[in-house]
Amino acid sequence: MTEDEGAGGRVLLLVPTTSYRIGDFLSAAERLGVAVTVGSDHQQVLEQYSEGGTVTLEFMDPSRGVSRIVGFDRDYPLAAIVGVDEETTLLAAMASQALGLRNNSPESVKAAGNKHGFRTRLANSGLLAPRFTLLPAGDDPLEAARNSFYPAVLKPLGLAASRGVIRANDPAQFAAAVRRIRAILDHVEGPGEARRHILVEEYIPGGEVALEGLLDQGQLTVLALFDKPDPLEGPYFEETLYVTPSRLPADVQDAIAETVTRAIATLGLREGPIHAELRVNEKGVWLIEVAARSIGGFCSRALRFGPHGRLEDLILRHALGRPVPAVELERPASGVMMIPIPAAGVLRQVSGLDAARALADIDDVTISVPLGDTLVPLPEGNRYLGFIFASGDTAEDVEAALREAHRELEFTVEPA
Ligand code: ADP
Ligand code: CA
Repeated sequence: MTEDEGAGGRVLLLVPTTSYRIGDFLSAAERLGVAVTVGSDHQQVLEQYSEGGTVTLEFMDPSRGVSRIVGFDRDYPLAAIVGVDEETTLLAAMASQALGLRNNSPESVKAAGNKHGFRTRLANSGLLAPRFTLLPAGDDPLEAARNSFYPAVLKPLGLAASRGVIRANDPAQFAAAVRRIRAILDHVEGPGEARRHILVEEYIPGGEVALEGLLDQGQLTVLALFDKPDPLEGPYFEETLYVTPSRLPADVQDAIAETVTRAIATLGLREGPIHAELRVNEKGVWLIEVAARSIGGFCSRALRFGPHGRLEDLILRHALGRPVPAVELERPASGVMMIPIPAAGVLRQVSGLDAARALADIDDVTISVPLGDTLVPLPEGNRYLGFIFASGDTAEDVEAALREAHRELEFTVEPA
């Protein structure tokens, strides 16, 4: 053990260089008094950290990653491994298994992390589920389009943040969507043959919610249930507003938690954060996705648990096997707007930030794309333009504040 090990132990955070989350996790680790190693796929960004503070890993090759982590653990014993984003949850689970640390089984993470695997695993669970079919990488889009049900949602198996998710109402839109998704997959680094197929699902109408939860030995604690008050009807599904508490009736909220509980049991997920998305209509509650990670982007900043810190504090506490306190949000309501990308092109100017920040109930406005960078809208885009955070007395207040702050912002985008 090295000197900075302390009583807190050492946690390995697996974070892709593209992650938004590292700063918030490092702050949480500091509050908890644990030493941190950042495991990432790129050396440059890591140079600022101290000895034992970094390890470079090839995320595309998990078995090599596991050996490297096991070797690292001999010099710097690890008390927990946390896979911060979608790309790293599997490696975190595999390495945790190798070292006997608390995490999900790799099988369960794999099932949740592949959209077709997810639908297949849940098919006999008794939960409501859309029809679905897999379109193999080489198959003719026109023929598949002729045989499909409509409206359909087409999506890649392993991307996130709605990238490549496209609704098709007829065969022409279907064939166009297939070509567009395949072009996106061509640009994604090494998704592997199995990830080049496309999942086709029946379109599920209805309002959408997101459930942020923490699992402990298979027990789900709901940390927040967010409504998504902007309609998400396609053809692309850009996320904008998240507001908690949900304004859905209590019995529907219970049904949502019950659905997620049954899904995680079916998938075999047992430990750590989960982010689930569901739709609600007159037939009931439908799962869209259950991810074995916490909410993406900077969105976790919408959750502040007073003296117990942030979502990242709870995740680290749980991973380290420390007691996780029962938490309550600091304010009765809070929310975040993922700022929609207004147009494709080069971001030249953002104005109105001060006016937006000065509004009642607005906690912060962050632009996460530097001026001069290119904005790419969905379905190809994979970067958030920015985030507006609000908290207040009611969900209505928070939603109104987020919308008002967004109206204050003006973006100058020069066509590329
Ligand atoms: P990602 O992992 O990229 O977020 P999702 O499967 O969660 O992909 O899809 C992104 C969004 O697309 C969802 O939040 C939802 O709004 C919409 N969507 C996905 N599948 C369906 C479906 N079967 N019916 C209706 N909307 C869907
Ligand atoms: Ca999703």
